[in-house]
Amino acid sequence: MTLHSRDAGQAAGRARGRMVERLRGQGITDERVLAAMMQVPRHKFVDEGLAYSAYDDTALPIGYQQTISQPLVVARMIEILRAGRELGRTLEVGAGCGYQAAVLSFLATEVYAVERIRPLLDVARENLRPLRLPNVRLKCADGSLGLPEAAPFDTIIVAAAAPNVPSSLKTQLASGGRLMMPLGAADQRLVMVERQGNVFKESRHEAVRFVPLLTGTE
Ligand code: SAH
Repeated sequence: MTLHSRDAGQAAGRARGRMVERLRGQGITDERVLAAMMQVPRHKFVDEGLAYSAYDDTALPIGYQQTISQPLVVARMIEILRAGRELGRTLEVGAGCGYQAAVLSFLATEVYAVERIRPLLDVARENLRPLRLPNVRLKCADGSLGLPEAAPFDTIIVAAAAPNVPSSLKTQLASGGRLMMPLGAADQRLVMVERQGNVFKESRHEAVRFVPLLTGTE
């Protein structure tokens, strides 16, 4: 490693530390979520030209008209899903560049991350490879159908907004499992669904802004 790249790595580590402190200031209290976000080099998940903004509290473009989610939203969704339990077998719908899948890998037993845009999934694969996370599996698929071959899931996290929760996702939730996704179009809100047997309980959380959940693959 050259001196230059070591300096860059240290600068990124400091920026990541500031991001985690900012998340604390924004009310994130789950230490395991904060520790996971300290582990993942977010600057490696965006174009080199955007690396300087990688630790800002903002969504950034990742190509194909998609974005890497804002750190606060990633932290909040996972914190709410985790409250009082383990994430267990986890399905992520909308892997994008793979950032959230990497964060989840430190908190879940297995992460199944699906993305409908194949070239974006290839980018995610490239981004994740050097991190050698043994419990992340990526697949190009329409996640609105879930991932029947790996169901049931203890946790389902959807990174794209829809008018309502797709029924396949509810079906693939284990009893005692939790799902979180943004619902709505112009006005979106995070909604959590908790399953107990065949009872599904919904709770509403903060306002957010996500790209739409689309169908099919491309
Ligand atoms: N989780 C990402 C956020 C990616 S943005 C992160 O860590 O930053 C949301 C992603 O959802 C986009 O890449 C989009 O292509 C994908 N998406 C939208 N509808 C989908 C569907 N039905 N199945 C799978 N992925 C979908």
